[in-house]
Amino acid sequence: MPMRLLSFAVAAQLLVAMAPARAQGPLPVVASFSIVGDLVQQVGGPDIALQVLVGPGSDAHAVQPTPAMARSVAGARVLFSNGLGFEGWMARFLKSANFQGRHVVLSDGLKPLKTASTHGHAHDVDPHAWQDVAAAVHYVQAIQRGLCQADAPRCAAYGQRAQASVQRLQALDREIRAGWAAVPPERRKLISSHDAFGHYAAAYGVRFLAPQGLSTEAEASARGVAALVRQIKAENVRALFVETIADPRLIEQIGRETGVQPAGALYSDALSDASGPAASYEALMRHNTTLMLRALTR
Ligand SMILES: [Zn+2]
Repeated sequence: MPMRLLSFAVAAQLLVAMAPARAQGPLPVVASFSIVGDLVQQVGGPDIALQVLVGPGSDAHAVQPTPAMARSVAGARVLFSNGLGFEGWMARFLKSANFQGRHVVLSDGLKPLKTASTHGHAHDVDPHAWQDVAAAVHYVQAIQRGLCQADAPRCAAYGQRAQASVQRLQALDREIRAGWAAVPPERRKLISSHDAFGHYAAAYGVRFLAPQGLSTEAEASARGVAALVRQIKAENVRALFVETIADPRLIEQIGRETGVQPAGALYSDALSDASGPAASYEALMRHNTTLMLRALTR
């Protein structure tokens, strides 16, 4: 019996020695929040095992990292985040979770967009770069590079899926531009909860006014809201939106004071769950654009 046990052990060791240096199982990967998670999954396909730290419907600006989140990153080979200060909690979290893998910041290399916030602090950097589809293309390319560096044997598969994703995103970008082309530029202005749409505004020629500033962590001031109400009346703004991650009461109050009815909920910083209208990045951009165009052309 001991002989047989020994030979099992030797055989097992031989099998381990013969296996390729890299495990054949899916690459363990983490994404900081739902929108990045979807783009990572598009490129990684079945070759990755993805965990998303801040899931659909949740606000990734303000997060209290949990032990479960620490366990998610502990064994991950690559972690993808947005950067630009969006996940302000990330650096400290990764340090405390003792993350040993590769951290890829998807917005690295993008030109930062400074937003003159209408009622908050002026000239902050707007972290919501994914609201411009061209930035999502940049993200997909960075995801491809990150996965290839961590998992060279499967680089060709990552490359193929990234290319297909970029083609879909370029078609989406053309679709959004075609939609806005039908709205006269002077009518392209609307209100949403927080300044999440600066990149969308710059890319597609739309003006957004927001009571809450660049982060959902900021409080809207009474004076700021009063000024916004005056501006809505003076400029005859016709479309008002709540956001799925923000408290709707402020927008509803502005709606009462201006007589402009809220026209629905925009998905700014998080996907919907799988049965909702923004279950993927592409669905999110289509849903938001359709809602805005409908409100402005009615
Ligand atoms: Zn935000």
